[in-house]
Amino acid sequence: MPSEKLLTAVRICAGIAAILAFLTLLEYLSGLDLGIDRWMLSNTATHSGHQPVGRMALISAVAFCTIGVALILVNQTPGYRLAQTLVFISAAIALLAIAGYLYQAEAFQGQMALYAAIVIFLLSAGILCLRAERGLMARVASNSFGGIMARRLLPAALLIPVVLGWLQHEGQRAGLYSPEPGLALLAVADVALFLSVVWWGVNSLHRMDSKRRLAEHELQETAAKLSRSNADLEQFAYVASHDLKEPLRAISGSVQILQERYQKQLDESAEEIIKHTVDGATRMQTLIDDLLTYSRLTAREAPLEPTDCSEILDEALANVELSLKESKAVVTHDPMPVVKADRTQLLQVFQNLLSNGIKYRGDRTLKLHVGVEDKDHEWLFWVRDNGIGIAPQYATRIFRIFQRLHTRKEYSGTGIGLAVCKKIVERHGGRIWVESEPEEGSTFYFTLSK
Ligand code: ADP
Repeated sequence: MPSEKLLTAVRICAGIAAILAFLTLLEYLSGLDLGIDRWMLSNTATHSGHQPVGRMALISAVAFCTIGVALILVNQTPGYRLAQTLVFISAAIALLAIAGYLYQAEAFQGQMALYAAIVIFLLSAGILCLRAERGLMARVASNSFGGIMARRLLPAALLIPVVLGWLQHEGQRAGLYSPEPGLALLAVADVALFLSVVWWGVNSLHRMDSKRRLAEHELQETAAKLSRSNADLEQFAYVASHDLKEPLRAISGSVQILQERYQKQLDESAEEIIKHTVDGATRMQTLIDDLLTYSRLTAREAPLEPTDCSEILDEALANVELSLKESKAVVTHDPMPVVKADRTQLLQVFQNLLSNGIKYRGDRTLKLHVGVEDKDHEWLFWVRDNGIGIAPQYATRIFRIFQRLHTRKEYSGTGIGLAVCKKIVERHGGRIWVESEPEEGSTFYFTLSK
């Protein structure tokens, strides 16, 4: 985008051109002599006995007037449509003059020099291309079927009538036929060529449409395969974790009995081994429980209904009240909206993010803030803390299941919380991500579609 100063300069130059052209137009229409033709040229001689030599031709004045105003308006949002129309008018005037020269039509050709006409035509096209992201040019430049067809057909639409007209004119001049048969030939040639262009366009569209349908079909199949394999995987995780629970409970139960009954008969190293086994079994139990929670998310989903987030936030804060008190955290939040959500799942997201904020706090007094912003087609929420932060290279990894950045000795946990949040948020048509600076704190953002 050019700077505002440059745009002002362009507008001033375009304004001067438009005013000069407009005054000339006024002279032609009113018959008054405003004297502008003598500002630079004292010679008042007249051109072929009519207009002063310094004066621009009538249609040039119209064309420059429209081009000047179009240049002033082209970069302004409300004026763009008018600019586009004005540009078409100046291009049409220029084309008329060019055609006048091609067909030696005296009424048009004397009005504007051939090169002036070509320059005005190119200028008009240039102004249209200046804002290729808007109006008709946006359609022409787009990658849609319409854009592709427009780019293919426009040159034909511009060239065919002009070239055929010229051929008809030349044939007539060479004495090959008189005007009436010439016109008939032109009409037939026009029809034949336009029919072939239309036929070619229809074929191209048909081919593009078939390709699109094929791609759509393949996409649907891939999506169906993906969702089948996802469902299989979830089912597998569910069955495996469910079935593993039982033998695991038997193992940990037996080891615990062993520990209680034979405590006195075992030496220190056997005690240590049993303790490790119990620890391991307990950890595995937690992991299996987490996996079960994760795989149940889809199976237990409720419909999305209007849900008051301030109620949910209060509930989430009440659930983590103890650790909030322990950490002496200061919690603030924006006014919460009503959103379309699965209540239980949204509560889980808030709770996981808040308890992570509490868990991964630093040495400073913990400050937690829950924010929200209305983003037209979605809600943007965030939970900000001033805790230990996360190095940027782990920003995506932490959302994968069982991915942790710390040992269990440093911070408890299994690495399931953020994976659960991600799954829930995605089910609500949203995204989740983190922005963080080590030692400074983290902000977890998530969106919910409206
Ligand atoms: P868990 O807390 O059980 O480890 P999560 O999935 O909730 O599992 O988090 C994954 C990892 O992301 C954590 O191990 C931690 O390293 C990092 N993390 C999550 N929340 C925060 C936070 N608020 N500040 C710093 N690190 C965090």
